[in-house]
Amino acid sequence: VRDVTEQEKLQAARRDFVANVSHELKTPLTSMKSYIEVLQEYPDTDEETRKRFLSVIQNETERMVRLTQDLLQLSGLETRQEPFRAGLINVSEWLSTAVNRFNLSAKQQGVTLVSEPYPTVSLRGDRDMLDRLVDNLISNALKYTAREGVVRITAAAESDQLLVSVQDSGIGIPAEDLPHVFERFYTVDKARTRKFGGTGLGLAIAREITERHGGRIAILSELNEGTTVTVSLPTVEVR
Ligand code: ADP
Repeated sequence: VRDVTEQEKLQAARRDFVANVSHELKTPLTSMKSYIEVLQEYPDTDEETRKRFLSVIQNETERMVRLTQDLLQLSGLETRQEPFRAGLINVSEWLSTAVNRFNLSAKQQGVTLVSEPYPTVSLRGDRDMLDRLVDNLISNALKYTAREGVVRITAAAESDQLLVSVQDSGIGIPAEDLPHVFERFYTVDKARTRKFGGTGLGLAIAREITERHGGRIAILSELNEGTTVTVSLPTVEVR
């Protein structure tokens, strides 16, 4: 009996997933199609309007590229088709390089990005995946934090675990949404998603990568106060 319910749950999840993907792809396509039609049917449209329409088409195209990239990443991780290239990761170098990748965009956004000296410990893991993991967390933190806010990346080594936290002083997440944010395509609200342009896959990817490394991921948030995502990963001893 239990197997049947498990099977049904899986099938339902798959149906939801296909419906979600179709919807996520159809929305930008429909909008692009209508803008292209207007441009074709009214060749005399003034320069300014044409530019505006083209920029909508460009934005939608970029959104679809991001979405398909995220989908491919997530499915590659879930089906284990993405190879796990294990290597020795120098935590201090890994994290400080990741923070550096965001220095410029944080500055342009008027957000203070705070780093610190990171523990001199090592992990066994796939560097590309681990980069994607912290990039997803830092880019979310920056995306949902307004000018003059602070994003802080900290790390601590405790016995055989590394705890990495990405903390922001941003808009936060309502308590009722918090248990769902790691689900595929879960977005807090439509208005937010339109404004910030997410795909709802970033945290699902972050969780997959963490779990593939034998770690755990958790989120704490207070609406209008900020959000902290903490990842714990097993460390290795290097001699
Ligand atoms: P997205 O790509 O849409 O940001 P994610 O899977 O990364 O999707 O996040 C899921 C939802 O959680 C988002 O809709 C966003 O509203 C919320 N969220 C994630 N990180 C943060 C954060 N640091 N601050 C506020 N909200 C966040």
